[in-house]
Amino acid sequence: MGILLSCLMLSIPMAGCTSDIQEIFGESWGVPGGLALACLRDDTYRELIIEIDHAPGYNPESSTVSLLKERLGQVCDKPDGIRVELNELDFSESNTWTAEKVREIAHETMDDDPQTSVLRWHVIMPEGKYSDESVLGVAVDASTIALFGDAIDDANGNFNFRISDEEVENSVMVHEFGHLLGLVNLVYTSPADHEDSQHPGHSNNEDSVMYWAIETFTIDAWFSGDLPTEFDQDDLNDLEGMKSGELSTSDQLWRP
Ligand SMILES: [Zn+2]
Repeated sequence: MGILLSCLMLSIPMAGCTSDIQEIFGESWGVPGGLALACLRDDTYRELIIEIDHAPGYNPESSTVSLLKERLGQVCDKPDGIRVELNELDFSESNTWTAEKVREIAHETMDDDPQTSVLRWHVIMPEGKYSDESVLGVAVDASTIALFGDAIDDANGNFNFRISDEEVENSVMVHEFGHLLGLVNLVYTSPADHEDSQHPGHSNNEDSVMYWAIETFTIDAWFSGDLPTEFDQDDLNDLEGMKSGELSTSDQLWRP
């Protein structure tokens, strides 16, 4: 008699974006947004470590790292600081990635658990592309992100040569962390009407880094000006509401 592991898998269809929600019985890495309160508040986790594991030659731009720290520092209460740990790593997978593969390999390569005395979020930057090649980045659970450098390089300059690889990487990185913070409407319901009806989990404001076209291959077809790298006022209000408890949050792995 085998024990049937119950596996609940819900896929939110998102054009160009995959924020699959998965919970495997007995081992819960949560859903994107599941550690939002742990980041926003300082009750238990006074420090945030961002572990970035990259394949050789796939290291993030220094502007991406500093921008990410700045944006998270604006919204997350971390009196002991936000620290980035960079590691070079050979990933066993270098070809086609799926959400499941990202979870499996990211969990294996993570240096410590997400929730110890500090909060740890993990980014992998491997070779290869996502199975849907239009995807530049994914948030696959409460603490795990992948950025696909090969896709980011290709996305640049299809339509608009003014936008550099570096700028695309800047925006996609902040965008994926926005998903870890629960944006938009992943673990709460915003009082503002700013979720794009065609692209669940994303903003309808092209001035927000959570705009749906960030992280898609056609990114530079959608912007005549600079790519957004900031959360807009609706995003910030949502985060503030979650933090204060004014907005109720679901699926949290930690609560005050
Ligand atoms: Zn997205």
